[in-house]
Amino acid sequence: MRTASRIANLPPYLFAEIDRKKEAKQAQGIDVISLGIGDPDTPTPDHIVDAMARAIRDPKNHQYPSYFGAKRYREAAAEWMRRRFGVDVDPATEVLALIGSKEGIAHVFLAFVDPGDYTLVPGAGYPVYHTGGILSGGQSWFMPMTEENGFLADFESTPPEVLAKAKMMFLSYPNNPTSAIATEEYFDRAIAFAREHDLLLIHDNAYSEIGFDGYRAPSILERPGAKDVAIELFSLSKAYNMTGWRVAFAAGNAQAIKALGTVKSNIDSGVFTAIQDAAIEALLGPQDSIQELCALYQRRRDLVIDTLHRIGLHAQTPKATIYVWARVPEGYTSATFAEKVLDEANVIVAPGNAYGPSGEGYVRISLTTPDDRLEEALERIKNTL
Ligand SMILES: *Cc1c(COP(=O)(O)O)cnc(C)c1O
Repeated sequence: MRTASRIANLPPYLFAEIDRKKEAKQAQGIDVISLGIGDPDTPTPDHIVDAMARAIRDPKNHQYPSYFGAKRYREAAAEWMRRRFGVDVDPATEVLALIGSKEGIAHVFLAFVDPGDYTLVPGAGYPVYHTGGILSGGQSWFMPMTEENGFLADFESTPPEVLAKAKMMFLSYPNNPTSAIATEEYFDRAIAFAREHDLLLIHDNAYSEIGFDGYRAPSILERPGAKDVAIELFSLSKAYNMTGWRVAFAAGNAQAIKALGTVKSNIDSGVFTAIQDAAIEALLGPQDSIQELCALYQRRRDLVIDTLHRIGLHAQTPKATIYVWARVPEGYTSATFAEKVLDEANVIVAPGNAYGPSGEGYVRISLTTPDDRLEEALERIKNTL
């Protein structure tokens, strides 16, 4: 049998070699600590789990869910947007339930991108912004991101011939992997740019709730005119420790919400309704767990930054997200430094180039490892340098 060329066109999986080495080491009984993936290590708050336990016993929840999301879930999402950001969205036409934001990212291409069309993608970003395009026959233009520019993706340098064939632009702040945050002025420029070039602007706000030192990330929908050109993706994964539950929502421009919903209604049948009920409890129930989670990550952030600075590695102190973005020492690439740390310290860090061309020269260290293991990993890295 012959697979489609879109499979062969996907970029090589940059963690393949790391995974192979990790498994070989583990087979020899070596204790490998992974700081590679961003997946919360603390459990989903009890009140959310309790809501799920109740919801799963309701036979009405056992049938096919509503395609666009239960009315009560879309209303809860709209209410959360209002409480959290002061943003008004119409739950009937401007909110769509997603089976995780990754699902929405992958499917939005089918709604907007014809073969050969471009998508403007952050130079370092969540890999599906690029691979979702490849799978749908589109192409990516990587917008440069540099430390001098605060890792704000430079859409203004996109060549006219690319813009002529561009349909969408992804942005994501607070940013994975760089942990950069955006200014209001930057969002305003992005909105004007999307309007000028007739692009759908998709703002992936996966880390809106994870902020430090009092920082609280905004929604791009707070900005004037945003709803004319943009949708925003909110995920319960990182905010409420619900990565395994697969639940998120898109909010914003009604035409884009409808187009994405149309694609989805032909592919999946929505989010399990009991999970939507648990998500309602997460969005509208007590929010104390978020403060506790931010305090936990902030403590770990300080530990990582402190150690990196003591061993002479450059990293800015992030205001948000669950990652520290560190520059590799002179003479290394992302890959060779990640390899050295794995070979000599038995610690996995993510090579920055796995997130796009602007990630070269950096590694990403995730804060989702229990404190004692994180301390042990940092001690080992320190001893190898
Ligand atoms: C974790 C992450 C996601 C995935 O979120 P899900 O809702 O779990 O699919 C999306 N975007 C970014 C930037 C992320 O870091």
